[in-house]
Amino acid sequence: MHKLAELDHRYLWHPFTQMRDWLKEEPLVIVSGKGAVLRDVHGSEYLDANSSIWTNLHGHNHPAINAAIRRQLKKIAHSSALGFASEPASLLAEKLVHAAICPLAKPSTSPTLPSAPRVTQERGARKGPPADQPTLSKVFFSDDGSTAMEVALKLAYEYARRIGRSPTPRFLSVEGAYHGDTVGAVSLGHIDLFHKAYGGLLFKSDTVMAPYCYRCPFNRAKPERADAREYRRCKWECVSKVEQRFARQKKTGNPYAAMVVEPLMQGAAGMIAQPEGWLARIAGIVRADGAQLIADEVMTGFGRTTASRAGAEKNVRFDPIFACHQEGVQPDYLAVAKGMTGGYLPMAATLTTQAVFDAFLGGYSEFKTFFHGHSFTGNQLGSAASLASLNQLLSPSCRRARHTLARSLQENLATLWRLPQVGDIRQAGLVAGIELVRDWRSRRPFDLTERAGIRVCEAMARRGVLTRPIGNVIALLPPYCSTRSQVSKMIEALGDAVEETFRKA
Ligand code: PMP
Repeated sequence: MHKLAELDHRYLWHPFTQMRDWLKEEPLVIVSGKGAVLRDVHGSEYLDANSSIWTNLHGHNHPAINAAIRRQLKKIAHSSALGFASEPASLLAEKLVHAAICPLAKPSTSPTLPSAPRVTQERGARKGPPADQPTLSKVFFSDDGSTAMEVALKLAYEYARRIGRSPTPRFLSVEGAYHGDTVGAVSLGHIDLFHKAYGGLLFKSDTVMAPYCYRCPFNRAKPERADAREYRRCKWECVSKVEQRFARQKKTGNPYAAMVVEPLMQGAAGMIAQPEGWLARIAGIVRADGAQLIADEVMTGFGRTTASRAGAEKNVRFDPIFACHQEGVQPDYLAVAKGMTGGYLPMAATLTTQAVFDAFLGGYSEFKTFFHGHSFTGNQLGSAASLASLNQLLSPSCRRARHTLARSLQENLATLWRLPQVGDIRQAGLVAGIELVRDWRSRRPFDLTERAGIRVCEAMARRGVLTRPIGNVIALLPPYCSTRSQVSKMIEALGDAVEETFRKA
């Protein structure tokens, strides 16, 4: 075993990892990376098919981000945001606010929302994004996705109290939601496997069904060889459930403070992609109720869901970098992290409105201050990296590359329908989830103890492609610099890995 692997085995404890299994095998020790390729300590090369747990945008060792960090390092790495401003944090905040303007927010340009091909009656569900949308104008920096969500939660909690909406604010989030591992973020989450153990530490949040078309009890369609969203037969019951939840809560006299969503695609829930129009309808319900909307774009932000809405392939210029904007929805809180620095450094942000900001203004002795912060808030190196990453992201060439990549991913994914163990393929731009089942005709899932997803990913790694499963779902999130042949290789490795794994079984 390599010396570094031995040290790892002796001293490290890895996240979300059964360490007994980890200690059975020599781990891959990654020593370098370039573009979409990672290299290990033995010189073997791998494609980074999940962008290093959904963080990397433009590839590893990106010259512009490297240069920006080097330039910043010559000046200073970090200074405290408690008491001081800084050049890169100020510039980044401005850039984020501009990037977070919703291009479709104006009622006159609101999109007409499509229905699913066979969706029958749309009872009561609001169709369009609400006309009166907030403007995100203030940025609170933190360190990672969990802390960005913790900030959104605390702000929404305190805001609801201060405006007199609720003395004991309650939150609604979606089944299977994952918003991070800090205690507040865990309270908003609904993945039993991760969260049950900490029940005693948490506050209660309400849950409502996810728009999980493939396994929706209201979807009357028989399985087909297509994304379940395309052939579903339903009456948007998932939206009605949200309406009912809001109505029921209002009757208690303590209306919801906020609803929390992962726009367009729930990540850790199993890459559950929302049918087109779900998000705008939900936003309409939230607005009509007077509650706030928290958008967790920790995974979906910064171009990840490029071109995931109808007609987008024909309109490269309409390419908002945030998922909620694809449906013309502007939240009251936008939490971003992972890709913000291009996946280089731990840094996050929560954007919110002037109204929320104003609720925390007052004389010193009123103590209306937002008493929250982290030592590395507004880190200068992270801000410099984020600025470089955003510049790259907003460039026309990156925009075009993302569209090409999304198409190429779609074409390659279609080849996987040949496999009986592929039940559903859900793509939202540059993120895809492939759900493995015993047989596509029955949709019967593998038992988690069979480790189907893990075994497939191990077989992919043997073929030089790295990703991590979410239960029985294989996640693919290629870096935006991935070439056509790299994308083909990722999908080919996945197809071959599925064949190998289930041939042996
Ligand atoms: N929200 C979402 C949607 C996420 O996907 C994640 C991480 N997978 C988080 C929050 C938490 O982010 P972090 O791991 O950076 O704390």
